[in-house]
Amino acid sequence: NTFAEIDLGDALNENIRRCKYVKPTPVQRHAIPISLAGRDLMACAQTGSGKTAAFCFPIISAILRQPPGQRQRGSRTAFPLALILSPTRELSVQIHEEARKFAFQTGVRVVVAYGGAPINQQLRDLERGVDILVATPGRLVDLLERARVSLQHIRYLALDEADRMLDMGFEPQIRRIVEQMDMPPRGQRQTMLFSATFPKEIQGLVYGLLVEHSIDDQ
Ligand code: AMP
Repeated sequence: NTFAEIDLGDALNENIRRCKYVKPTPVQRHAIPISLAGRDLMACAQTGSGKTAAFCFPIISAILRQPPGQRQRGSRTAFPLALILSPTRELSVQIHEEARKFAFQTGVRVVVAYGGAPINQQLRDLERGVDILVATPGRLVDLLERARVSLQHIRYLALDEADRMLDMGFEPQIRRIVEQMDMPPRGQRQTMLFSATFPKEIQGLVYGLLVEHSIDDQ
């Protein structure tokens, strides 16, 4: 089982080779085909499992298959196609760095926005155009309130370390973010949720966010 056998597209496969990834890790082997098939998923995954690539590869691959007209540039409000939510600045920066490597020379733009840092540089990055936004929930709510980001075009949502986001008290922000995505005209959205643990609170979030498929669907 190698990445070349998964239909991720030539540009992404080239970048995977550049990263020297040959074999998918277990979470990648299970999650990527489900996501490429257009289904929602939740996965139990720890740091070091390769979860970042597990949600970035299907997102980048799907964006590269979309007509370029969908991708907006240079407007005051940014319209990302994909949103990756993460609990901390450190994790967001790490996801951003990885995602940029995977999106190298593809034209897919990745921008990161996190709290506890000046917002101006992040606003300038957003203005230059963003396909994939990596953000912490608090800073994203701030950007939504300033109307500098719209979630109307989001087709792909990934929640990384969902249990940690809930532990840190981000549930109200996550709910507000999802509400914005659900406002009409709500397009088709695919959701991926990654968590190290699955307490009751996560199950509540999962029921609200994911479309369930029966076992024989998988
Ligand atoms: P993560 O769990 O996403 O933080 O990834 C942990 C580390 O494994 C990172 O340094 C990745 O670059 C690396 N990695 C992820 N997937 C693979 C793979 N299929 N082959 C080799 N290294 C990988």
